[in-house]
Amino acid sequence: MTDQIFPSEPRWKALLAACVTDPKQVAERFDVDPDRLAAAIRRFPMRINPYYLSLIRWPGDPIWRQAVPDPAELTDAAGTAEPLCEEEQSPVPGLIHRYPDRVVLLAADQCAMFCRFCMRKRRVGKVAAEEERIAAGVDYVRSTQAVHEVILSGGDPLMLDDSRLARLLEAIRAIDHVRLVRIHSRMPCTLPQRITDDLVRMLRVFQPLYLITHFNHPDEITDRSREACARLADAGIPLGCQTVLLKGVNDDPAVMHHLMEMLLVMRVRPYYLHQLDRVHGTVHFRVPLEKGLSIMRHLRGRLSGMGVPHYMVDLPGGGGKVPLTPDYVVSRDRSVWRLRNGEGRVFSYPV
Ligand SMILES: *Cc1c(COP(=O)(O)O)cnc(C)c1O
Repeated sequence: MTDQIFPSEPRWKALLAACVTDPKQVAERFDVDPDRLAAAIRRFPMRINPYYLSLIRWPGDPIWRQAVPDPAELTDAAGTAEPLCEEEQSPVPGLIHRYPDRVVLLAADQCAMFCRFCMRKRRVGKVAAEEERIAAGVDYVRSTQAVHEVILSGGDPLMLDDSRLARLLEAIRAIDHVRLVRIHSRMPCTLPQRITDDLVRMLRVFQPLYLITHFNHPDEITDRSREACARLADAGIPLGCQTVLLKGVNDDPAVMHHLMEMLLVMRVRPYYLHQLDRVHGTVHFRVPLEKGLSIMRHLRGRLSGMGVPHYMVDLPGGGGKVPLTPDYVVSRDRSVWRLRNGEGRVFSYPV
């Protein structure tokens, strides 16, 4: 029966089935020592689909660093497993209710690629997002009038196949007090083949629907990812991007500038630049706040204002996100403030 409806398996499923999970497969391709990867993989699984793997140009490049385990993951004394205390803010498992009006529903436990810097490294690929658990999350939303927005995250919600995702979106859309639905997915970047015409046709029924994707480096922008974003944008789905500030990947003003500009050209609006959460096994990616601020200072004024993201820190202990901005205020007197512009010149401005 299923075979008649889907005469051939979609390409994205075949790519997922061919994911690299064994260090030997990486070692064979790149001539590196598999033992260097094996210990980290025992703690935090590896999963790289063939498309994302094909973007690696050399061991240690910005794509490699995001996807291939590093022995430093096991030497991280500074991180904690769950600094954001998401589990304490979960009224039902797999649903995080931190802000009054919106919830995050973890709709999948898998991804097309396991990012080595993942904030949910403790659970992705380990904790099953079962159908009943997701249904309990939807029940919570239904019985909680204050929730006006549901954010599907995970794992990657686009790991669900079209029919399961459609059923979930239908159930959410049927709730009167839910006004907005947002999908957080890295697939336009890590497996753009997932963005099929069928998927887009299905998603456009559930407007208003926003899709926030996640690109970290210009090397991730290919003809394939451009096409995926174009399909979504053509269907009237507004696109945003969350980027994570990562040492050795994008902690460079010129790289960040180039990335943000390329995103705008793809009709993807940079939304957040995240300071990395202090999660276990991610120490080698940490960038000091001061450096993040200096990148923000570089972007403002040189790049279309639409391309300047908010630089966000998610406070430990479940305090929520706060934006950091370079300090443009030099002094505040009762009648006049002194403000510094992007070039460093100071101006007086009457309050
Ligand atoms: C980041 C986050 C959101 C969404 O925040 P926005 O600022 O609206 O993008 C919602 N809930 C939780 C728990 C979050 O961590």
